[in-house]
Amino acid sequence: MHEIIKLNMLINGREVDSPHQLEVRDPGKLTDVVGTVAMGSASNVHDAVCAAHAAFQSWRLMPVHERVQSLMAGAAAMEEVSTQLATTLVREQGMLLRETQRDVNNGIKSLREMGSIAEDFLQAEQFEDEDSLVRVEKAPRGVIAAIVPWNAPMGLTMGKVGPALAAGNTLVVKPSAFAPLAVSQALKLLAGFFPPGTINVVHGDADVGSALTHHPLVRQISFTGGTKTGKAVMAAAAESIKNINLELGGNDPAIILDDADPALVVPELIKGIFPRSGQVCYAVKRVYVPARIMPSFFDALCAAVDQYQVGHGLNPLSTFAPMNNHKQYDYVLGLIAQCRQAGAIVRELGSRLEPDNWNNGLYVQPTVIKDVAPTAELVVAEQFGPAIPLVAYDTEEQALQMANDTEYGLASSIWTSDPNRGLALSSRLEAGVTFVNSHARTPLGERHMPFGGAKQSGIGRVRTPIGLAEYVEYHAISLNKKNCQPQT
Ligand code: NDP
Repeated sequence: MHEIIKLNMLINGREVDSPHQLEVRDPGKLTDVVGTVAMGSASNVHDAVCAAHAAFQSWRLMPVHERVQSLMAGAAAMEEVSTQLATTLVREQGMLLRETQRDVNNGIKSLREMGSIAEDFLQAEQFEDEDSLVRVEKAPRGVIAAIVPWNAPMGLTMGKVGPALAAGNTLVVKPSAFAPLAVSQALKLLAGFFPPGTINVVHGDADVGSALTHHPLVRQISFTGGTKTGKAVMAAAAESIKNINLELGGNDPAIILDDADPALVVPELIKGIFPRSGQVCYAVKRVYVPARIMPSFFDALCAAVDQYQVGHGLNPLSTFAPMNNHKQYDYVLGLIAQCRQAGAIVRELGSRLEPDNWNNGLYVQPTVIKDVAPTAELVVAEQFGPAIPLVAYDTEEQALQMANDTEYGLASSIWTSDPNRGLALSSRLEAGVTFVNSHARTPLGERHMPFGGAKQSGIGRVRTPIGLAEYVEYHAISLNKKNCQPQT
């Protein structure tokens, strides 16, 4: 038996309860209540924003190295409880333990990455001639509203906390109602290393998110979530000309070229399609395969996918976890049914590890679909789940045209045995990120690739100094030397 977790909000360094509690259930065992969180209101949002605004007045003046020390100490404290956080995440969010461990580690890495680059990056640039002195400062902006989704909540939240605080801003964070527990626990732990009001946490749903995005004292909204919600966030930001970073949805294409070896491609490709049961913003969402090799490619892919063992995220035998919420579960099953009705070939694969628990969780078998029209909803929309369509093509130009024929532009990948061909075609894909012969960052990529979307997949980038730059206001200062008294 697990203890039921009960969490309050955190406003100005104080725990705040609420008459409204949200119950969080285990997506892999729906009869289990994992915890409850105190749900916030517009009034809690107002208090939190005012607390963050007050804290900003002194936090912004704190020397950068002291801000960085707090961030690094917070990261170390988070590391000490990382297994506990990852276990809570499995139970509220549904993913495999190794996936949630990775998410927690990514969160810790984000804090440390920003801690390690902030001091250099935030230095002012100075220019001088005989008439004047010009200084370009990287100033903080003020209160940042951080709104996060449920699918990789720790990495995504800390990806906002790290740069925001290092740059001297303060925060109000709204975790997702579908995975609020571990994020809220981690934020409260971190908050202990900062002055009261620097980090505030208000739990809630869309109403709380909306109250935050409309609050006039919020200077920047850092939002990760669906494109439809991103549009509402952008409209709210317009009211008081807030800065925005939007990390939104994707419909990421993978193009298999005719010179690719399926035996090499398939094992890597499935690592790009199915982690977190397909609930990854930049997961491969559609695969373009040369018509000539489609039959053998389909068979090879199905054979590999059939190895997955679908079960609870804490079951050590599971290699494939349930979906997070009923809405996504129904949506993905509906997309699969649509394909079947339209005459596509649908293979539901993998084995069911816990047959008795199957209907007590949001389990969906990994599904590979071919003979699907390029215009099918599964191909053109963001499915965000474990069903992958294979679309046949005849020429490279046709594949590129289909890959780019979307309003999304998050990630993409090209698979080929010729690196030059892969690199040349990469530049023609409309995306924030393109991988060749993988669909994931290498260690070098982790250090140097800014991440974000083109077109309607977002505005702005995270990670690297480019990501830190999103949280600063360039303040250009000019001193006219001519009227100055000579210094004695
Ligand atoms: P949603 O857009 O539904 O929600 C994201 C967050 O916004 C949640 O905290 C949600 O609250 C909140 N929210 C909902 N409505 C509003 C509103 N009107 N104003 C302000 N906040 C609001 O996305 P999901 O949580 O379902 O996440 C999945 C989506 O996120 C996918 O489209 C995925 O691609 C995208 N994503 C993008 C990433 C990227 O880096 N580009 C990374 C990860 C995910 P609540 O849900 O609690 O009600």
